[in-house]
Amino acid sequence: MSESKPYRVLLYYMYVPIENPEVFAKKHLAYCKEIGLKGRILVAAEGINGTVSGTIEQTDMYMEMMNADPKFSEMVFKIDEADHHAFKKMHVRPRNELVTLRLEDDINPNELTGRYLSPKEFYEKMQDDDTVILDARNDYEYEVGHFRNSIKPDIKSFRELPEWVRENKEMLEGKKILTYCTGGIRCEKFSGWLVKEGFEDVSQLHGGIATYGKDSEVQGELWDGQLYVFDERITVPVNRKEHVIVARDYFTGEPCERYVNCANPECNKQIIATEESEHKYLRGCTHECRVTPRNLYVKEQNLSEAEVAERLKVIEETVTAE
Ligand SMILES: [Zn+2]
Repeated sequence: MSESKPYRVLLYYMYVPIENPEVFAKKHLAYCKEIGLKGRILVAAEGINGTVSGTIEQTDMYMEMMNADPKFSEMVFKIDEADHHAFKKMHVRPRNELVTLRLEDDINPNELTGRYLSPKEFYEKMQDDDTVILDARNDYEYEVGHFRNSIKPDIKSFRELPEWVRENKEMLEGKKILTYCTGGIRCEKFSGWLVKEGFEDVSQLHGGIATYGKDSEVQGELWDGQLYVFDERITVPVNRKEHVIVARDYFTGEPCERYVNCANPECNKQIIATEESEHKYLRGCTHECRVTPRNLYVKEQNLSEAEVAERLKVIEETVTAE
């Protein structure tokens, strides 16, 4: 692959025992800052999970440093090219868990996990009969892109997933279960938990969607929409053969992949909206967010009170007396 952009975004994780995560985190943060990386890294007694951005030189230094440590010599980095940093700051935080699942009996993915499938194997299995494709991410991630015919568990956060599975057992029993997530880390424990729950045929997409989209053979096929990522890019492309838009404008429901933040700084909710909707709804996700005196859209556009009232009238809302 030709390297044409000056920056990179790295995504990586490893389940490996780390002694004294707090001390490790402090040292690691100092090193990352010293070489100029930005991003977010979680460290726990069970391992490390990170996403960082930097120049080609900075990211090379980081990967070499990590791979030189026997603990992390097998670490796989997913690398995206980028035009600039994808983060504003550098954080390394000690945590109890790398992903918050809070299982009653914790799973060690090095001892128990679902079968690893390469992108090609996953692509083929998705098209088998009796297959259930389970998205192990949150609803807002699914909303902007997912594998065709995959199931979105009706949950708000990852830790609700086990309960959802128990309540929807009949959907999964006797089926070949495929799980997938962004970089693969959430499936490590989740697929292991499914095996422990008694499901017999459980596989996971090794390296996650991030790896799937870069695979030269499958080229992201059967992925619809974009991949939601936890950095300033918000979304990245996956399917290089065709682009189907699955996300919808928050206000009108029309196909759209444009993200904005609600103009109420106290809300700041990420919403999908066309430019037209942004102007029409003053970039506010609710009436309260539209009429707050702190609305950033109104400030940016220098709208007068009369102009705001006029916009609200169009969407059949009025400014309520305060
Ligand atoms: Zn809002």
